[in-house]
Order: sequence, then C-alpha cells, then structure tokens
Amino acid sequence: MGFPARLPIPDAVLKIAKQLEGAGYETWCVGGAIRDNLLGVENHDFDLTTAAPPAEVRRLFKRTVPVGIEHGTVAVLDPQNRQHEVTTFRKDIKTDGRHAVVEFGVSLMDDLARRDFTINAIAYHPIRHEWRDPFHGADDLERRLIRSVGDANWRFQEDYLRILRALRFSARFEFRIHPGTREAAKANVQGLAQLSAERVRDEWYKGIATAKRVSKLLTLWIDVGAARIWLPEIRPGNGKRERGNVDKLPRDPVLVTAYLASDPASLLTRLKSSNKDIERGRAIGQWRDKYPDPKHVPDVRRWLSQVGESADDLLVLHPAPRSLLPKVVESIRAAKDPLTVKDLAVNGDDLLAAGVRPGPDVGETLERLLAEVLEEPTRNTRDYLLSRV
Ligand code: ATP
Ligand code: MG
Repeated sequence: MGFPARLPIPDAVLKIAKQLEGAGYETWCVGGAIRDNLLGVENHDFDLTTAAPPAEVRRLFKRTVPVGIEHGTVAVLDPQNRQHEVTTFRKDIKTDGRHAVVEFGVSLMDDLARRDFTINAIAYHPIRHEWRDPFHGADDLERRLIRSVGDANWRFQEDYLRILRALRFSARFEFRIHPGTREAAKANVQGLAQLSAERVRDEWYKGIATAKRVSKLLTLWIDVGAARIWLPEIRPGNGKRERGNVDKLPRDPVLVTAYLASDPASLLTRLKSSNKDIERGRAIGQWRDKYPDPKHVPDVRRWLSQVGESADDLLVLHPAPRSLLPKVVESIRAAKDPLTVKDLAVNGDDLLAAGVRPGPDVGETLERLLAEVLEEPTRNTRDYLLSRV
C-alpha cells in the first residue's frame, strides 16, 4: 500500500509537534488515528510520540495533565481544553504479563517495536510528512490482517491483554487474525486469567461498542478460549439463537452481556461491574422468560409494577419482534396508570387515620390496594380506597 502524501493533522496537534521539534525533540504521530485515516475512517484523535522525556513535555507546555506519567504519557491541553496525548519514546524492559517497566531515551524504532500489532505501529511525521512503517503495517491494512509486531507468543506473554485487543480489532475492522498470531493467542489464552477484571471488562465493553457485528466478536472470544475463562456463563453449545439475534440489539454493553449470559449477575460480578449494572443484569436474568400476555392489560400493569426500571431493557429483549407489548406499555404509561404504592391516592398516614394498626398491616394494606388498582386504575381515588380498608 502506498502512503498518502499528507494526512490532515489538526492544527492543535501540529502546533504541539512543532513546539517539541523546535525544542530539538523528534516527534511523530502514531497509533489508532494513523491506522484509521489510512483505512479511510475519520479519526482526529492523533497521538504523538516524542523523544522529549515526560518532564520536558510538562516544562514545554503550560497546561498538561499527567494522565499516564508512569508510562511516559502526558496530555497537553489546547486552547479549547481538548487533551492531546504525548508519549515519550519507550521500550518495555520488564513485564509480567500485566504491567511493564518502561525505559525512556530510546528511538522511534524501539517505540514502534513495542506496539501490539503492525497496523498500530505506523508513524507519520506531521511536519516533514515522512512515514515509518518498519513492520509493514500498511501491507497488513491492505490485506486486512491483524498481526503481532515480532514474535506473537512473546508479545502476548508480555501483556495478555493484547490477545483481547486482537479480537477487538479483528471484529471492528472485519480483519482476519494472521495464523501465527491466532495460534499464539490460543496457546497463551490461559494467561488471561492473570489480568485484572477491570481491564478485561473495558476491553469486552469496547469490543461490543465497536464491533461490526457483535456475533463475530463473540465467536472470536469463544474460539480463542477467552470466553471460557472470563465469560463462562456464555456457553458455546447453547444459545445459538442468542448469538444470531445479538446483532440486532443496541450497543449497550451491559444489556448485550446480560442477554448472552445464562446468569448475568454472576458474569457481571466477575467483571467487577458496578452494583447498578449487576442489578440491571440480575433483573434481566430473572424476568426474561416471564413476559405478560399483552392482550390482558391488567397483567401488563402488574408486570410493569414488578419489573420497575427494567421494563425498557425487557422490552428491547422481547423475543417476538411484532409483539403488541410495547404498544400496550406505551398506552399504560401515557394514561399515567398508577403502578407503585407511591402512586396510590392514599398513603400510610391515611391508613393509620382510618384505623389500620401501626406496623406491617400498613404495608400489606397498601399492597392489597395497589393490587386492586392494577386490576382497574379508575379505582385509584381516596374515597374508593378508604372504603376498601
Ligand atoms: P482505539 O481506536 O481503540 O483507541 P488505538 O489503536 O488508538 O485504538 P489505544 O488503546 O488508544 O488503541 O492505544 C494507542 C496505541 O498504543 C495503539 O495503537 C498501539 O500502538 C499502542 N498500544 C496500546 N495498548 C497496547 C498494548 N497493550 N500493547 C502494545 N501496544 C499498545
Ligand atoms: Mg486510541
């Protein structure tokens, strides 16, 4: 693949590069934005890599944020307060599969060599318009291939997250994974167990958000063996129907994950998701095969009352696309039918005043009244309800 004569580098990025170069530090654009622009995909988020040590970057620019200073990454703020990442040329000198000890004061070539895949290891000089592509990433872009930089086995053992990154990029661009890289991913998959749940979750969620088809991403996770380790609730044998339908869902990672899992709460707990997300998944698991008959409106009201905030997730996941249920739900909501004890025309104090004994009787009576109102919403008047106490 030939390189274009020029890439459209945003002014703010060019200015940062010029200032670093002016101070005597070689500076290049690298990473995802180069790859995406070569693919014809819009991406203005150009990362810079420079010979300037982190302290120099912070000295040269008035407004910086040390976003990943231990890896040599400093974000430089432009006048619009946008962050532009500037990373010092680095080399990983020691790794344990999860963290790297890095060394600065190395060359652009060293820096490109420690990058994960050939398509992510292309550099462009924003001032001289030169290209550096020592690992032939442009050819792999043309062949639509994900290939490790250097020895795939070794590169995955340095950082097992790269296995998941390979799957993500493959599903996002619909690129094949080079046979050697793929075999190495499979051979080293057990190393994924060492990763932190947070990194795995971020990778899985990003994959769901960016894949051309989520079903493809899932197939890759299953085939390589990553799903067995981190997503065991998604079983390869079962759920063929789920895997096909998953491409029709909105790209909401929690929803998609819950949909695919036999036990969503357990899976989301393993991924150290927030309590809110775990509860969301739990409700999906609990209710997804208990839909009401839309022809029986009181049943739909009772269902809405019970599932609460999960109703919209459950509607999205409804197995029959032409069901009447969404329409019925819409009309119940439009009518503002009472669905919870709070919506009743009486409250606990009213019941006490009417002679209900303090204690559990109050709650039980409210529930009983709610049941009447769910059956027939016009019953929700103070007079009627007090007459029923
Ligand atoms: P995205 O579009 O997802 O942001 P990206 O390629 O920009 O894709 P980033 O995670 O933003 O990915 O990383 C920027 C660059 O840093 C990558 O292109 C790659 O060169 C390098 N990189 C990131 N993570 C790793 C890693 N775990 N191992 C080696 N190189 C990495
Ligand atoms: Mg990026």
